[in-house]
Amino acid sequence: MADAVMQTPLQYLKGVGPRKAADLKKAGLNTVEDLLFRFPRRYEDRSQLQKIISLRPGMNAAISGTVLNAGLAHTRRPGFKLFSALIQDDSGQVQAVWPNQAFLKDVVKSKQKIVLFGKVEIWGSRGLQITDPEFEIVSEDPVPGEIQLHTGRIVPVYERTFSVTTNMQRRFVWQALKKLPAVLFDPVPDDILSRQQWPSRLDALRQAHFPATGTAIDALNNFQTAAQRRLVFEDFFVFQTGLALRRQENAQVRKRLVCAVDDRIRHCARDVLPFKLTSGQRDALADIVADMQRGWPMQRLLQGDVGAGKTIVAVVAAVVAMENGFQVAVMAPTEILAEQHYRTIVKTLQGKPYRVALLSGRVTAATRRDLLPAIERGEIHLVVGTQALVQEHVKFKALALAVIDEQHRFGVVQRGTLAAKGDNPDVLVMTATPIPRTLALTECGDMEVSVIRGLPPGRLPVKTVVKPDSRRDEAYAMMREEIRRGRQVYVIYPLVEDSEKIDLKAATAMAAEIARVFPEFNVALLHGRMKGDDKEAIMRRYLAGELNILVSTTVVEVGVDVANATLMVVEHAERFGLSQLHQLRGRIGRGTHQSTCVLLYQAPWSDEARERLRAMAETNDGFVIAERDLQLRGPGDFFGTRQHGLPTLRAGDLTRDVDLLERAFVEARTRVDSGTLSPALAEYVRDVWQRQFGLITVG
Ligand code: ADP
Ligand code: MG
Repeated sequence: MADAVMQTPLQYLKGVGPRKAADLKKAGLNTVEDLLFRFPRRYEDRSQLQKIISLRPGMNAAISGTVLNAGLAHTRRPGFKLFSALIQDDSGQVQAVWPNQAFLKDVVKSKQKIVLFGKVEIWGSRGLQITDPEFEIVSEDPVPGEIQLHTGRIVPVYERTFSVTTNMQRRFVWQALKKLPAVLFDPVPDDILSRQQWPSRLDALRQAHFPATGTAIDALNNFQTAAQRRLVFEDFFVFQTGLALRRQENAQVRKRLVCAVDDRIRHCARDVLPFKLTSGQRDALADIVADMQRGWPMQRLLQGDVGAGKTIVAVVAAVVAMENGFQVAVMAPTEILAEQHYRTIVKTLQGKPYRVALLSGRVTAATRRDLLPAIERGEIHLVVGTQALVQEHVKFKALALAVIDEQHRFGVVQRGTLAAKGDNPDVLVMTATPIPRTLALTECGDMEVSVIRGLPPGRLPVKTVVKPDSRRDEAYAMMREEIRRGRQVYVIYPLVEDSEKIDLKAATAMAAEIARVFPEFNVALLHGRMKGDDKEAIMRRYLAGELNILVSTTVVEVGVDVANATLMVVEHAERFGLSQLHQLRGRIGRGTHQSTCVLLYQAPWSDEARERLRAMAETNDGFVIAERDLQLRGPGDFFGTRQHGLPTLRAGDLTRDVDLLERAFVEARTRVDSGTLSPALAEYVRDVWQRQFGLITVG
């Protein structure tokens, strides 16, 4: 394989013993390549050495001189050790001090030549000192090839990796770069390099870690140099090429049931529409129906905010499949949601010749005994149920389309079980999590994505107000008012996983408090520790209007459509993520009445929390919220836990490097689709995918 050096384990570097190797491994750094793709957090320009006489308080200075004397200084504070050294150059002397680093007495000794970099401060009446500087002892007779790494140049500053300090890492990276062969395989094709005027891989790695003196420090710190951008592009490009190869592989899979569309079917589809589709719905539907007519299975993600109208799009797709004589499965994450879909679908298809069945845990054993064979014989055209029920227990005669409603969760689809049914059906996944485009490009794997933006016409947007907890009386007054009008209320309490028990206690106390404040109303508590049946029972009572106030932890996120719920009070709103708040708010505003969301926060709150709540008050657009969330939190945290399985990218930043990501996407797809990807690159990409992502196979 090309470039074996890149895959050399890090313990082969000088100075990396078992302990350091283990620490690096903990940070995901196993090989030379891993190390080289961990870029500096920032750069410092230490190339201009200053004369000691020119030092002024407040400046960051790099100086070079001789140690006159060094040792532990006496301090009055017990237990506090100050190591200090007096440094002289041909213009003057300055004191350098290192608090609490007594071990330096064995490192810094008089008569040594030293370069150091740090902040100049006033030291009482005694003049200037440099506090806690970075330094490097310069040997009298330099070993050939050894050069100064820590000063006298633009210096990379790395994030500390457990016991591996920034200085150590600098030395490791330097060594690693020296080991690289003069010619490295370059995954970025030549034509792109010359078009962008980007350096070769080797040059880029050198420049990204040890920039040439004179490189603009701002450009470096903003990751805007040609070398840095090229490496970010490379990272995106290799990943996107892998995705494109996988997509191509998917297109080789044949499905058994391919839909056709003619005027009769078009008429049937139009006939079930209870309203005029929005243009977003029409476009999504066109994407889906085009996929259904292809010879390979659809794998499409349909994104749209809560209430955007995804259901009708799925129903029309189902009609197309059924009119072809095929079957459809619609799957939801919970029983309640499955029932909800069932009711909607039955209503929409009323008077049409399709047989629709609900397969839920609440269906009697006798009914199931009848249903299962009828599905197997193909007499039932559309089956609604939870994912588990449908995927595990049902045999279809001709399953052409599987619709999976993921609600807010976004996870990798278990296509395996569906494909195992033999037909390789078309799969449509619906999610109410607006995913920023950049994330969709990296995180949705090989799925195609359709987006419905905005809400259907005539919807009243939810009003959102932010209040300090000290004004909770006002929230209570609003609750009373709303319930008097016959409406229902949600009170949401955060549940942080780490402290689930404490929070649950707090949520329970909150429910008791609410019950005490509103003795005339029916109040119940819903939380994740409850048994599934108990949860469902409470949700059903709320749905039926028997409960006025539902105090809930965030489990209600995957909740149901209660059109009569018009007020949501969120406790400790400052603790919630932005996307999560938006999902919660989506539980109200689903009927014809004006809805309000009250975000109660408890001081002190961070600037970021303030930003989040402000964004909530400013917009109802889930995509705007998602972009803001991505900016505030970064992609790693966007989905909360990284349940969806794809890895983080090494070099790129999805908010900073959007343009590179888009370019990488286009370049990778066009090359793969037009068959102009070089075999060497294809092999390289397969190799990287295998190494980095383990089980996933490409091409
Ligand atoms: P979601 O995308 O959250 O699944 P739904 O499919 O449940 O949204 O749609 C939300 C509501 O909007 C439903 O009551 C639905 O009937 C209605 N709706 C959907 N599309 C339109 C439309 N084009 N015009 C009017 N109402 C619509
Ligand atoms: Mg829905």
